Amino acid sequence: MAHPVNRDKRVPTSIQEPSRQIDVIHECEVLVVGSGPAGLAAALAAARAGAQTTLLERYGCFGGNITQVGVEGFAWYRHEQTVDCEGIGVEFEERAKQMGAAQPEPQSNSHALDGEAFKYVADRLVIEAGITPLLHRLMVATIVEDGVIRGVIVESKAGREAILAQRVIDGTGDADVAARAGALVHKAPREELMAASVMFSMSGVNKQAFIEHIKADPQTYADWAGGEWTIETTGKEDELFSPFLRKPFDQARAAGLVPADLQTLAGTWGAISDQGDLTYLNVVHLPEIDGTDPNDLTRGEMEGRHQAMLAVQALRDYTPGCEQAKLRNFGMTLGIRDTRKIDAQYNMTAHDVREQGRFEDSIGIFPEFIDGYGILILPTTGRYFHVPYRSMLPKGVKHLLVAGRSIGGDRDSHAAVRNMMCCAVSGQGAGVAAAVSLRQGCDVSDVDIKAVQKALRAQGARIH
Ligand SMILES: Cc1cc2nc3c(=O)[nH]c(=O)nc-3n(C[C@H](O)[C@H](O)[C@H](O)COP(=O)(O)OP(=O)(O)OC[C@H]3O[C@@H](n4cnc5c(N)ncnc54)[C@H](O)[C@@H]3O)c2cc1C
Repeated sequence: MAHPVNRDKRVPTSIQEPSRQIDVIHECEVLVVGSGPAGLAAALAAARAGAQTTLLERYGCFGGNITQVGVEGFAWYRHEQTVDCEGIGVEFEERAKQMGAAQPEPQSNSHALDGEAFKYVADRLVIEAGITPLLHRLMVATIVEDGVIRGVIVESKAGREAILAQRVIDGTGDADVAARAGALVHKAPREELMAASVMFSMSGVNKQAFIEHIKADPQTYADWAGGEWTIETTGKEDELFSPFLRKPFDQARAAGLVPADLQTLAGTWGAISDQGDLTYLNVVHLPEIDGTDPNDLTRGEMEGRHQAMLAVQALRDYTPGCEQAKLRNFGMTLGIRDTRKIDAQYNMTAHDVREQGRFEDSIGIFPEFIDGYGILILPTTGRYFHVPYRSMLPKGVKHLLVAGRSIGGDRDSHAAVRNMMCCAVSGQGAGVAAAVSLRQGCDVSDVDIKAVQKALRAQGARIH
């Protein structure tokens, strides 16, 4: 933890930062801040709908959790009967397949994205759509006049700069733009937030031996329960295969390699390549990390890497095929699942995602897939819900839309809409709505929803 600076009474507790004149370096019609599945989809949708669009990102690659954390399971929920969304999210998967940036996902009818190669896929998509790319700039403040957002201020190696925009889409995952612009946002107490994770991948795995071992002792979703975890399913999930790992960590604990009180080491592997890369190892779970607090982030990164190294050793010692394997990489950054949500014009509910919510202002559908807070419901039956446009409209700031995991809703709805494919649904909806509102010369909250739905259909999205 950082120490407070004022233990010595002569040291002031705060300082006045001098105001300064900064350059406006760029102007655009639609500015998308953050380039995860939501922001990337939003920028593509806005540009394809005819708006002059800029995509701003704090790191050196687009893709958000896919490329920065290494979250590769884009549609691991998809089964034979699943009625899935259509549009840009599915395009991500298809394009990644075409470009050799995806491989079959072991538990579903889908492909896992290659988190590294997807950086290049995203570059190509951005260039082809004519989007202005701005990497390596962190949005630090907003420019708001009379309740209308006019742009943002960024900080980078070049110092502080301003970017002006007619519409802004917040795809930061943390609702950073909305919060700084003064929109109503909320965040659960630390102890109620979903755990954070350091993701990692290994190389040098003997694929044949590993797969033979997995087939000889197949794990199921019912096996997720155990240690400190309980799991609510509908029952139909329980006997299905899951690429789940707990036994090697239990064995390592019994042998004294893993501390006895570290009960949360367990989880899934994502994909294994012919070259022996075992990727998207999602087995480290760190409770009580607030992703908007840099002290928590520091603790999470370092403790998470420590636990990941224990996990690598446990896999080498107790999993056939992994004996000669090594750490390939950690995610570029700690994986955060849960921070701020906006208080939206409509906040989605557990009922909406569990009981096939239907909305006049739907901007897309998402299968009945709920994953989080101890709930796992898989869309094996064809049930799905609508994503309402109003869940992306923050209160108190005009010309601003929020897409991705910070849209308005309760815990259960977050466990559904946070999934990357659904973030692409809200992103595409926000991008198109921003472009249509520009054309109509109105605020995003007054846009003609029928025109938005028509433009979304023209882009290949499924609305109902
Ligand atoms: C460990 C882990 C495992 C997961 N597993 C799965 C899974 O298997 N399947 C699934 O579908 N979902 C999974 N999720 C959830 C999913 O990854 C996220 O909910 C989803 O990526 C959110 O998308 P987003 O676009 O809203 O935000 P993000 O993917 O977080 O993208 C936000 C982007 O905004 C940028 N940004 C943030 N703040 C600023 C700023 N101030 N200025 C400029 N740029 C900024 C970030 O760098 C990032 O690129 C997982 C999440 C984690 C953490």
